[in-house]
Amino acid sequence: KPATTSAASTPESFPTSHEPISAPIDTTNFLDNKFVESKATKWIDLYDPATNNLVTRVPQSTDEELKAAVDSAQKAFPAWRDTSLLARQAIMFKYVALIREHWDRLAASITLEQGKTTADAKGDVLRGLQVAETACGITTQMTGEVLEVAKDMETRSYREPLGVVAAICPFNFPAMIPLWSIPIATVVGNTLVIKPSERDPGACMILAELAEKAGFPPGVVNIIHGSAPTVDFILDEPRIKAISFVGSNKAGEYIFSRGSANGKRVQANLGAKNHAAVLPDCNKNHALNAIAGAAFGAAGQRCMALSTLVMIGETKDWVPEIAERAKALKMDGGFEPGADLGPVISPEAQKRIEGLIASAEAEGATILLDGRGQKPEKYPNGNWVGPTIIANVKPHMKCYTEEIFGPVLVCLNVETIDEAIELINANEYGNGTAIFTRSGATAGKFQREIEAGQVGINVPIPVPLPMFSFTGNKKSVAGGGANTFYGKPGLQFYTQQKTVTSLWRSEDAGSQKASVNMPT
Ligand code: NAD
Repeated sequence: KPATTSAASTPESFPTSHEPISAPIDTTNFLDNKFVESKATKWIDLYDPATNNLVTRVPQSTDEELKAAVDSAQKAFPAWRDTSLLARQAIMFKYVALIREHWDRLAASITLEQGKTTADAKGDVLRGLQVAETACGITTQMTGEVLEVAKDMETRSYREPLGVVAAICPFNFPAMIPLWSIPIATVVGNTLVIKPSERDPGACMILAELAEKAGFPPGVVNIIHGSAPTVDFILDEPRIKAISFVGSNKAGEYIFSRGSANGKRVQANLGAKNHAAVLPDCNKNHALNAIAGAAFGAAGQRCMALSTLVMIGETKDWVPEIAERAKALKMDGGFEPGADLGPVISPEAQKRIEGLIASAEAEGATILLDGRGQKPEKYPNGNWVGPTIIANVKPHMKCYTEEIFGPVLVCLNVETIDEAIELINANEYGNGTAIFTRSGATAGKFQREIEAGQVGINVPIPVPLPMFSFTGNKKSVAGGGANTFYGKPGLQFYTQQKTVTSLWRSEDAGSQKASVNMPT
């Protein structure tokens, strides 16, 4: 049975409203291409963030279930590795077609469990789908190198899969981030164990169902659930060769160090504080719309949300106009037509965000637009924080030093582009940044001098498409950003190189004496 979490989602029927679910279905594990009910004794309740109605219970998968997932992946690996690249590619083409076919259903699961609007949830799916589409070109991406290094002697390099690999995912992109791993990890021949976020695993369960339908053999994609104990299992299980993690610094720094200490490859994308520098010569209307959209879209719960404005010179007087645009955004249940932003993920997140707004007030900043206490009439019980703008922020304030991860824009004022660059570079995060200007020379200077991994020039959220790589830096990645997600580095992460040097000499060596020295 396709017992995914999202209120009995099936291809024929899936939720399209925030109505209470009369009989919530427990989330299952996905092992050996089957949805397997968990024997868990501990369960994590999952609530619709717009209503706080129960949607499902997510198991803390038992030790036996965690082990069974790795057994399954380990057993599937040799045959999957030996399956031709063209056959794996053909499955990926089917997978892409199925994700497109089930796009609305995947988006509905995201809206129900994560809270984002239907339109934004569709974007979440699309960005992951594009990684799968790019993986369909694997036959030209996997080619190795060959060189005749001496007469009759050549060296060839191959890319080989690692074996069993694992992915640990955050709550904010329930489809996109599992799809940063599933296509690339599997198309190159690895088998995969995924732990989706315990707060919204529904989309990942549908992706597993579609993987089975596309023709992935049993064991190539497995899903286990839970919180820290599941993560610790992944970190310590010797058969898991590599870990892909996306999430907070708290969890990610721990996962990177313990996973690396256990000899695994780890790629880890962490938190952010993304700044935009706004210059007086920019296209003002474009910049203000872009900033309001990128600060408050997805209720600010994107790692590339534009959460911090650096207003240069006279642009500080534009902040009230951003507030006007923010007020025009409709906060509502994600399924409601016309909703621009939904709730935040949990009552705890709401409380934390409200606490950071209060701290800014206490530290002397100006709350220009206050989203605290706002709620849509129809959904009084959700986790609501309306768009909030905090002006006159200083770098020592808590609202600046901490990642807020909510619909809150903090604004600082400087006089010059040099001051803006200095301020942004002094921040310990380095995920993304943007500049709004009409001057190519100023943009060029910013691009060169700025210490952030992803730079937008008049583009508020410069997330690279999958032919490039997600290139955060500083504290926004663990391990100095050596192992970035998707693109060429993603392919490298999920493969190891083998070089073969061969000698095919037709004539006899001529001498009976063995040579013991390094050839010179
Ligand atoms: P999170 O770190 O709380 O959770 C991520 C995963 O880690 C989950 O699967 C969770 O079960 C697990 N986890 C949480 N705490 C743990 C612990 N103490 N020990 C072991 N495992 C633990 O992150 P989240 O709240 O789900 O996601 C939001 C965060 O993710 C934000 O900081 C955001 O910036 C970041 N993020 C970064 C990127 C990026 O590419 N840089 C993308 C998306 C989200």
